[in-house]
Amino acid sequence: MFLLKNFYILSPQESREKDFEFYKGHLFIKNGKIEKIYHTNDEINLQPTEKRETPETIDTIDGQFRKLIFPGFIQCHIHFCQTLHRNLAEQMPLMEWLKKEIWPYEASLTPDTMKQSVLMSLKEILGSGVTSVLDMGTVHHQEVIFRIMEAVGFRYTGGKAMMDQCPDAPPGLTETTDNSITESMKLFERFHGKADGLLHYAFAPRFVLSCSPILLQAVRQLSDQYDIIIHTHASEHPEEVAFIKETTGYGNVAYLNKLDALNRRCVIAHMIHLDAAEKKMVKEYDIAVAHCPTANLKLGSGIAPIPEYLQNNIRVGLGSDGAPCNNSLCIFNELKLAPLLQKGTHNDPLLLKPEDALRMVSIDGARITRQEHRVGRIAENMEADLVLLDMDTPQTFNFEKNPAAAIVYGADARNVYATMVRGKFLYKEGQYDIKI
Ligand SMILES: [Zn+2]
Repeated sequence: MFLLKNFYILSPQESREKDFEFYKGHLFIKNGKIEKIYHTNDEINLQPTEKRETPETIDTIDGQFRKLIFPGFIQCHIHFCQTLHRNLAEQMPLMEWLKKEIWPYEASLTPDTMKQSVLMSLKEILGSGVTSVLDMGTVHHQEVIFRIMEAVGFRYTGGKAMMDQCPDAPPGLTETTDNSITESMKLFERFHGKADGLLHYAFAPRFVLSCSPILLQAVRQLSDQYDIIIHTHASEHPEEVAFIKETTGYGNVAYLNKLDALNRRCVIAHMIHLDAAEKKMVKEYDIAVAHCPTANLKLGSGIAPIPEYLQNNIRVGLGSDGAPCNNSLCIFNELKLAPLLQKGTHNDPLLLKPEDALRMVSIDGARITRQEHRVGRIAENMEADLVLLDMDTPQTFNFEKNPAAAIVYGADARNVYATMVRGKFLYKEGQYDIKI
């Protein structure tokens, strides 16, 4: 049990009429949930319901109104498995980068190196305030990731990459259509909803160029049948889109539509190069977009039409993508770049507010990962996934006047005081509580 006393609280609101509620208050955390919210004028009245719940057993943290509580950041596209290949795949466009570096690296992973990659990723994202991810694994060793997430108590949605048709991939990454589906279903049955709902499975057909039409269709049917997210990449780089057009006669999203491979459970990373008809499809299917601005810039992929998506009420989340294409997993980079990129490239300083970016990593990220009933807002009975930010720093001066701008433009991982997942501090004051 924790009493988080004398904090500023910034809570996303469900309606866009008012993006956030911002107030001074205290949170009482019990059994992994936000049990009670007090505003500063309220009298704190902790009613012990059991003998052992005396005020002495309550761990109190006094924020002294120098710290701010926000819902734990949600990353909607990441590759935990790629982190050991950080700084080893530079100066290449997407397809060359995949063929020469990423796929051979992924094929070489063992259960032990996978574990190292996941733990390194976890430390970095917990230290930057992230409490939940939508992750794309590789073809093998996905069970290693789930087991670590379960042991640590991290909120994780993900699945093994599916690649049944990829002539350029090394032998270690190729699989038959049947194997790809059977292995995915085994993992789904074993881990979906486990750890009291912290773990969720997501089908992960990597992208059109690694998947047969039969696989993509089967995944959509299974997603409908079992109500599971489909997590994939599309329309990332012009070269990729041109190749799909040349071989199929369709744009990337149009081809998925032609195969009947899309549904409202799709979360698609990048979505940069779409024509008007494809953008309509995104709206019609209510597809969610995982925007990865740093990775898109670094691989020279382009800039996604995020303001247009937001105007059309398309759900947009943020992700750092993999460590080899970013090369950081710190969500603050994406929070800052998302609005700056649009303002700069459209010569319009009013485009994309910092509030828009913060909603992407909180309430909208929760909707995209289908956990909005559990996390993404600060409300009584929601699960306690929180980031505690130290705002008494030079780079966040005047944060009381404009907290969203202070977090998005000024703050970074140095401001993260603590990261809590379901009522447990997995990171606090530079120390991790990761036991596996
Ligand atoms: Zn990716």
